Amino acid sequence: MFDIQRYPQINPPQRLLMGPGPINADPRALRAMASPLIGQYDPAMTGYMNEVMALWREIFRTQNRWTMLVDGTSRAGIEAILLSAIRPGDRVLVPVFGRFGHLLCEIARRCRAEVRSIDVPWGEVFSPQQIEDAIKRVRPRLLLTVHGDTSTTLLQPLDELGDICRRYGVLFYTDATASLGGNELDTDGWGLDAVSAGLQKCLGGPSGSSPVTLSPRMEEVIRRRRRVEQGIRNDSHYDGDDEIIYSNYFDLGMIMDYWGPERLNHHTEATSMLFAARECARIILEEGLDNTLARHALHGRALAAGIQGMGLDTFGSPAHRMSNVLGVVIPAQVHGEAVRQRLLEDFHIEIGTSFGPLQGKIWRIGTMGYNARKDCVLQTLAALEAVLNRLGLKTVQGAAMQAAWDIYDSAGR
Ligand SMILES: *Cc1c(COP(=O)(O)O)cnc(C)c1O
Repeated sequence: MFDIQRYPQINPPQRLLMGPGPINADPRALRAMASPLIGQYDPAMTGYMNEVMALWREIFRTQNRWTMLVDGTSRAGIEAILLSAIRPGDRVLVPVFGRFGHLLCEIARRCRAEVRSIDVPWGEVFSPQQIEDAIKRVRPRLLLTVHGDTSTTLLQPLDELGDICRRYGVLFYTDATASLGGNELDTDGWGLDAVSAGLQKCLGGPSGSSPVTLSPRMEEVIRRRRRVEQGIRNDSHYDGDDEIIYSNYFDLGMIMDYWGPERLNHHTEATSMLFAARECARIILEEGLDNTLARHALHGRALAAGIQGMGLDTFGSPAHRMSNVLGVVIPAQVHGEAVRQRLLEDFHIEIGTSFGPLQGKIWRIGTMGYNARKDCVLQTLAALEAVLNRLGLKTVQGAAMQAAWDIYDSAGR
C-alpha cells in the first residue's frame, strides 16, 4: 500500500545561498507569489501584465514596447529570442568567454544557424576591436553575446558593440541573466536589439520567469516571419520555408500578440511567476536602479577585500569583473569541495564550485539580489575563514572581517 507518511510536508533547510545563483529570493517576491490566482483575461490580470511591461522597461533602460516575460527559466528567454530571430542557414557570431557562450552556440545550432565563434582564454573578455574584426570576417546576421558570464565571473563590455553592429547591419543580442540589476546595462544607449534575463540572480527572485526586451528592429524581423508563416498556413501545398519559427511556445510573434492589445490566446500565463517578476522590478525601482547597482558594487568590493585580507587570491582582471560574483582561487593547502561541504553542513552557507577549465581551481561567491547585504558578506567571510583554519590553512584570523569593515566604513555604511 502507498505510504503517504513517507512524504511529509516539504520543509527545506534554511540556507544562505552565496553561490553564482540561484540566491535566496526576497521574501516580498515570495509573498507576491502567494497572492490569489486570477483568470487570464481578468482586467486585473491584463492590468498587471501592462504594469510588468512598464516596470521592466525601466530595469532594461529601454523605450522598447516589447518588454515582457517569457515563462520558464532564463534559457526560455534565450531560446525564444534565438528561435524567433534566427532563420535556418543564418550566420551568427558568438564571442565565447565562458560556459554560457557555449550555450548560445549550442542553441543557435539547434536553430540551424551557421555558427561561428571566437574565443579568449577563460578569465579574459573581448575588446570591441576583436569583435569588429570578427564581424568583418564572418559577416553574421546576428551577434550573440553574454554580458556577465558567471562561469568565469567576468563582464563583457558591450557599450561600443551596438554602433559596430549598426555599421555592418548586424542584429545585437545579449544574455544578461547574471548581470542585470547588478551591473550597468543600457539597452537603448548601447543599441541592443534583444536582451534576456532571469529573476534568480541580481534581480532577487526565484528562477522561472525570463524578462526580455526587443527593439523595433527585432520586432520587425519577427513580425515579418509571422506574416509569411500565416500566409503559409493557409496554403495546403506549402512544403517548408525558412521563415517558419520552429516552436509554438517560444514564438515571440505569438507572445507579442498575447501581451499586446490583441490578447490573442497563447499559453496560460504563469500567474504566480508574473507576480514575482512584477515584485522584483518594483523592489529595485523603489530602491532606485542606480542605488541597486551601487549596492552590488559595494558588497562585491567588500567581499573581495575580505578575501584578499584573508590572504587568498581573487580570479580575473578587476577591470572586467562582475560586481556580483567573485572567483576565489582555491589555496593549495585545502580541498575545495571539503571546504564547501563544511560551509554547507556547519553554517548552512552555499558557495559555488566551478567547471570546465576552472574546475577545482576557483570557488565562486555571489553577493547578489537579496543577498547583496553586509550581514551576508560578513557571515560568509567569517565562516570561510573559520573553515579554512579548521582544515589546515592558517590565516591571520579576523583580518578578513577588518578588511571588509574598512570598505564599509569608507563608504559610510
Ligand atoms: C545563470 C545563468 C543562466 C541561467 O539559465 P537558467 O535557464 O535560468 O538556468 C543563463 N545565462 C547566464 C549568463 C547565466 O549566468
